[in-house]
Amino acid sequence: MQPLFFDSHCHTEFSADSSLRADEALAQAKKLGLGLVFTEHMDIGFPGELDFTFDPAAYWQAYEPLRGDELSLGIEIGLTAEAGAANLRVTKAVPFDMVLGSLHLLRGEDIYYLSLYKTLDKGELYREYLQALAKMTRENPYIDALAHYDYICRYAPYADPAMSYDEFATEIEAVLTAALETDTVLELNTRRLETAAVYQEMLAVYRRYRKLGGRYITVGSDGHSASAVGKNFAAAKELAVAVGLTPVTFRERRPVILR
Ligand SMILES: [Zn+2]
Ligand SMILES: [Zn+2]
Repeated sequence: MQPLFFDSHCHTEFSADSSLRADEALAQAKKLGLGLVFTEHMDIGFPGELDFTFDPAAYWQAYEPLRGDELSLGIEIGLTAEAGAANLRVTKAVPFDMVLGSLHLLRGEDIYYLSLYKTLDKGELYREYLQALAKMTRENPYIDALAHYDYICRYAPYADPAMSYDEFATEIEAVLTAALETDTVLELNTRRLETAAVYQEMLAVYRRYRKLGGRYITVGSDGHSASAVGKNFAAAKELAVAVGLTPVTFRERRPVILR
Protein backbone atom coordinates (compact mmCIF):
# COMPACT_ATOMS: atom_id res chain seq x y z
CA MET A 1 0.00 0.00 0.00
CA GLN A 2 1.06 3.60 -0.56
CA PRO A 3 2.29 5.44 2.53
CA LEU A 4 -0.82 7.64 2.58
CA PHE A 5 -2.55 8.87 5.67
CA PHE A 6 -6.05 7.42 5.93
CA ASP A 7 -9.43 8.70 6.97
CA SER A 8 -10.62 5.36 8.36
CA HIS A 9 -14.28 6.24 8.99
CA CYS A 10 -16.48 7.46 6.13
CA HIS A 11 -20.08 6.83 5.03
CA THR A 12 -21.39 6.65 1.46
CA GLU A 13 -24.79 5.84 -0.03
CA PHE A 14 -24.76 2.36 1.49
CA SER A 15 -25.37 4.07 4.85
CA ALA A 16 -29.00 5.06 5.45
CA ASP A 17 -28.03 8.57 6.60
CA SER A 18 -25.58 9.39 3.81
CA SER A 19 -26.01 10.29 0.15
CA LEU A 20 -22.30 10.73 -0.45
CA ARG A 21 -21.24 9.04 -3.66
CA ALA A 22 -18.07 6.97 -3.63
CA ASP A 23 -16.53 8.98 -6.46
CA GLU A 24 -17.18 12.28 -4.64
CA ALA A 25 -15.61 10.94 -1.45
CA LEU A 26 -12.60 9.61 -3.32
CA ALA A 27 -12.11 12.86 -5.27
CA GLN A 28 -12.14 14.86 -2.03
CA ALA A 29 -9.74 12.44 -0.34
CA LYS A 30 -7.38 12.63 -3.30
CA LYS A 31 -7.42 16.41 -3.11
CA LEU A 32 -6.38 16.16 0.53
CA GLY A 33 -3.80 13.45 -0.10
CA LEU A 34 -5.72 10.93 1.99
CA GLY A 35 -6.72 7.33 1.61
CA LEU A 36 -10.20 6.30 2.73
CA VAL A 37 -11.95 3.44 4.43
CA PHE A 38 -15.67 3.23 3.73
CA THR A 39 -17.35 2.11 6.96
CA GLU A 40 -21.04 1.73 6.20
CA HIS A 41 -23.62 1.54 8.96
CA MET A 42 -24.82 -1.91 10.01
CA ASP A 43 -27.10 -1.38 12.99
CA ILE A 44 -29.17 -4.53 13.29
CA GLY A 45 -32.41 -3.96 15.21
CA PHE A 46 -32.09 -0.18 15.19
CA PRO A 47 -35.29 1.60 16.26
CA GLY A 48 -36.93 4.27 14.09
CA GLU A 49 -37.72 4.95 10.48
CA LEU A 50 -34.39 4.47 8.75
CA ASP A 51 -32.97 1.05 7.97
CA PHE A 52 -29.34 1.20 9.07
CA THR A 53 -28.37 -2.07 7.44
CA PHE A 54 -27.07 -2.90 3.97
CA ASP A 55 -26.40 -5.95 1.85
CA PRO A 56 -22.69 -6.77 2.16
CA ALA A 57 -22.70 -8.68 -1.14
CA ALA A 58 -24.16 -5.70 -3.03
CA TYR A 59 -21.66 -3.38 -1.32
CA TRP A 60 -18.76 -5.60 -2.26
CA GLN A 61 -19.95 -5.92 -5.82
CA ALA A 62 -20.36 -2.15 -6.18
CA TYR A 63 -17.10 -1.06 -4.56
CA GLU A 64 -14.64 -3.91 -4.95
CA PRO A 65 -13.56 -2.50 -8.36
CA LEU A 66 -12.61 0.76 -6.56
CA ARG A 67 -10.68 -0.97 -3.80
CA GLY A 68 -6.95 -0.35 -3.99
CA ASP A 69 -4.07 1.55 -2.44
CA GLU A 70 -6.31 4.52 -1.70
CA LEU A 71 -9.50 2.76 -0.66
CA SER A 72 -10.28 -0.01 1.79
CA LEU A 73 -13.75 -1.42 2.34
CA GLY A 74 -15.01 -1.65 5.90
CA ILE A 75 -18.14 -1.69 8.00
CA GLU A 76 -19.35 0.09 11.15
CA ILE A 77 -21.21 -2.36 13.35
CA GLY A 78 -23.75 -1.13 15.91
CA LEU A 79 -22.96 -3.10 19.06
CA THR A 80 -25.93 -4.41 21.04
CA ALA A 81 -26.38 -7.42 23.30
CA GLU A 82 -29.17 -8.71 21.06
CA ALA A 83 -27.28 -8.47 17.76
CA GLY A 84 -24.08 -10.13 19.02
CA ALA A 85 -24.18 -13.30 16.92
CA ALA A 86 -25.71 -11.63 13.86
CA ASN A 87 -23.04 -8.92 13.96
CA LEU A 88 -20.23 -11.42 14.06
CA ARG A 89 -21.80 -13.30 11.13
CA VAL A 90 -22.13 -10.19 9.00
CA THR A 91 -18.44 -9.32 9.42
CA LYS A 92 -17.66 -12.59 7.66
CA ALA A 93 -20.13 -12.12 4.78
CA VAL A 94 -17.47 -10.53 2.57
CA PRO A 95 -13.74 -9.97 3.17
CA PHE A 96 -14.07 -6.56 4.84
CA ASP A 97 -10.77 -4.73 5.38
CA MET A 98 -11.86 -3.13 8.63
CA VAL A 99 -14.57 -3.63 11.24
CA LEU A 100 -15.42 -0.63 13.39
CA GLY A 101 -17.52 -1.23 16.49
CA SER A 102 -19.87 1.47 17.77
CA LEU A 103 -22.37 2.10 20.51
CA HIS A 104 -25.30 4.04 19.03
CA LEU A 105 -28.02 2.84 21.41
CA LEU A 106 -28.51 3.01 25.15
CA ARG A 107 -31.30 0.98 26.81
CA GLY A 108 -32.46 0.26 23.26
CA GLU A 109 -32.89 3.95 22.42
CA ASP A 110 -31.10 5.97 19.74
CA ILE A 111 -28.51 8.11 21.55
CA TYR A 112 -29.36 10.89 19.10
CA TYR A 113 -32.85 11.24 20.64
CA LEU A 114 -32.39 9.72 24.08
CA SER A 115 -35.35 10.23 26.46
CA LEU A 116 -32.85 9.66 29.26
CA TYR A 117 -31.50 13.17 28.62
CA LYS A 118 -34.61 14.35 30.48
CA THR A 119 -34.60 11.86 33.34
CA LEU A 120 -30.93 11.35 34.25
CA ASP A 121 -28.36 13.99 35.06
CA LYS A 122 -25.20 14.20 33.01
CA GLY A 123 -23.05 12.30 35.52
CA GLU A 124 -25.49 9.38 35.79
CA LEU A 125 -26.05 9.18 32.06
CA TYR A 126 -22.40 9.42 31.00
CA ARG A 127 -21.44 6.77 33.56
CA GLU A 128 -24.13 4.40 32.28
CA TYR A 129 -23.10 5.09 28.68
CA LEU A 130 -19.41 4.43 29.38
CA GLN A 131 -20.20 1.25 31.31
CA ALA A 132 -22.27 0.01 28.37
CA LEU A 133 -19.45 0.91 25.99
CA ALA A 134 -16.90 -1.04 28.04
CA LYS A 135 -19.24 -4.03 28.25
CA MET A 136 -19.94 -4.07 24.49
CA THR A 137 -16.21 -3.76 23.75
CA ARG A 138 -15.50 -6.82 25.88
CA GLU A 139 -18.38 -8.80 24.41
CA ASN A 140 -17.29 -8.11 20.83
CA PRO A 141 -13.55 -8.74 20.88
CA TYR A 142 -13.44 -9.35 17.11
CA ILE A 143 -13.85 -5.68 16.18
CA ASP A 144 -10.72 -3.98 14.85
CA ALA A 145 -11.34 -0.50 16.22
CA LEU A 146 -13.71 1.10 18.70
CA ALA A 147 -15.36 4.16 17.16
CA HIS A 148 -16.13 7.52 18.80
CA TYR A 149 -15.91 6.71 22.54
CA ASP A 150 -17.38 10.22 23.00
CA TYR A 151 -20.41 9.71 20.73
CA ILE A 152 -22.93 10.79 23.37
CA CYS A 153 -21.24 14.21 23.71
CA ARG A 154 -22.33 15.07 20.16
CA TYR A 155 -26.01 15.00 21.06
CA ALA A 156 -26.32 15.43 24.83
CA PRO A 157 -28.25 18.67 25.35
CA TYR A 158 -26.26 19.87 28.37
CA ALA A 159 -24.77 23.36 28.52
CA ASP A 160 -21.38 21.65 28.72
CA PRO A 161 -21.45 18.21 27.07
CA ALA A 162 -17.73 17.61 27.69
CA MET A 163 -16.74 14.20 29.03
CA SER A 164 -13.68 15.13 31.02
CA TYR A 165 -11.21 12.46 31.99
CA ASP A 166 -10.99 13.81 35.54
CA GLU A 167 -14.73 13.57 36.10
CA PHE A 168 -15.21 10.14 34.51
CA ALA A 169 -11.79 8.59 35.08
CA THR A 170 -13.04 5.24 36.42
CA GLU A 171 -15.51 4.65 33.62
CA ILE A 172 -13.25 5.95 30.83
CA GLU A 173 -10.44 3.77 32.13
CA ALA A 174 -12.76 0.75 32.01
CA VAL A 175 -13.39 1.46 28.30
CA LEU A 176 -9.68 1.87 27.58
CA THR A 177 -8.85 -1.33 29.46
CA ALA A 178 -11.58 -3.24 27.63
CA ALA A 179 -10.14 -2.08 24.31
CA LEU A 180 -6.58 -2.98 25.28
CA GLU A 181 -7.48 -6.39 26.67
CA THR A 182 -9.40 -7.31 23.53
CA ASP A 183 -6.70 -5.99 21.19
CA THR A 184 -9.08 -3.34 19.88
CA VAL A 185 -7.57 -0.11 18.55
CA LEU A 186 -9.14 3.08 19.87
CA GLU A 187 -10.38 5.39 17.14
CA LEU A 188 -9.66 9.10 17.32
CA ASN A 189 -12.87 10.47 15.88
CA THR A 190 -12.31 14.00 14.61
CA ARG A 191 -15.96 15.10 14.49
CA ARG A 192 -15.79 17.03 17.78
CA LEU A 193 -12.13 17.98 17.49
CA GLU A 194 -12.95 21.57 16.51
CA THR A 195 -12.04 23.59 19.59
CA ALA A 196 -9.12 23.91 21.96
CA ALA A 197 -11.38 22.74 24.81
CA VAL A 198 -12.29 19.48 23.05
CA TYR A 199 -8.66 18.99 22.06
CA GLN A 200 -7.67 19.17 25.73
CA GLU A 201 -10.56 16.90 26.73
CA MET A 202 -9.50 14.24 24.24
CA LEU A 203 -5.79 14.71 24.87
CA ALA A 204 -6.26 13.58 28.48
CA VAL A 205 -8.10 10.42 27.37
CA TYR A 206 -5.57 9.41 24.72
CA ARG A 207 -2.70 10.20 27.08
CA ARG A 208 -4.22 7.77 29.56
CA TYR A 209 -4.73 5.19 26.79
CA ARG A 210 -1.03 5.45 25.94
CA LYS A 211 -0.08 5.20 29.59
CA LEU A 212 -2.12 2.00 29.96
CA GLY A 213 -0.22 0.44 27.07
CA GLY A 214 -2.14 1.66 24.01
CA ARG A 215 0.09 2.12 20.98
CA TYR A 216 -2.21 2.61 18.02
CA ILE A 217 -5.15 4.74 16.98
CA THR A 218 -7.21 4.90 13.85
CA VAL A 219 -8.25 8.40 12.76
CA GLY A 220 -11.69 8.92 11.29
CA SER A 221 -13.84 11.90 10.34
CA ASP A 222 -17.10 9.95 10.37
CA GLY A 223 -17.88 12.01 7.29
CA HIS A 224 -21.28 11.76 5.62
CA SER A 225 -20.44 14.43 3.02
CA ALA A 226 -17.44 15.30 0.86
CA SER A 227 -16.64 18.40 2.91
CA ALA A 228 -16.32 16.32 6.07
CA VAL A 229 -13.64 13.99 4.69
CA GLY A 230 -10.38 14.53 6.55
CA LYS A 231 -11.90 17.20 8.80
CA ASN A 232 -9.75 18.30 11.78
CA PHE A 233 -6.99 15.88 10.80
CA ALA A 234 -4.23 18.40 11.55
CA ALA A 235 -5.40 18.51 15.17
CA ALA A 236 -5.66 14.71 15.29
CA LYS A 237 -2.10 14.27 14.04
CA GLU A 238 -0.86 16.83 16.53
CA LEU A 239 -2.64 15.00 19.33
CA ALA A 240 -1.18 11.65 18.28
CA VAL A 241 2.34 13.07 18.31
CA ALA A 242 1.76 14.82 21.63
CA VAL A 243 0.83 11.58 23.40
CA GLY A 244 3.06 9.21 21.43
CA LEU A 245 0.40 7.16 19.63
CA THR A 246 0.92 5.73 16.15
CA PRO A 247 -1.92 6.10 13.62
CA VAL A 248 -2.88 2.95 11.73
CA THR A 249 -5.54 1.92 9.28
CA PHE A 250 -6.77 -1.60 8.62
CA ARG A 251 -6.37 -3.67 5.49
CA GLU A 252 -7.57 -7.27 5.31
CA ARG A 253 -8.33 -6.91 9.02
CA ARG A 254 -4.69 -6.20 9.88
CA PRO A 255 -3.26 -2.89 11.10
CA VAL A 256 -1.13 -0.91 8.67
CA ILE A 257 1.09 1.75 10.24
CA LEU A 258 0.67 5.26 8.78
CA ARG A 259 3.43 7.83 8.69
ZN1 LIG B 1 -21.06 5.77 14.57
ZN1 LIG C 1 -19.89 6.42 11.45
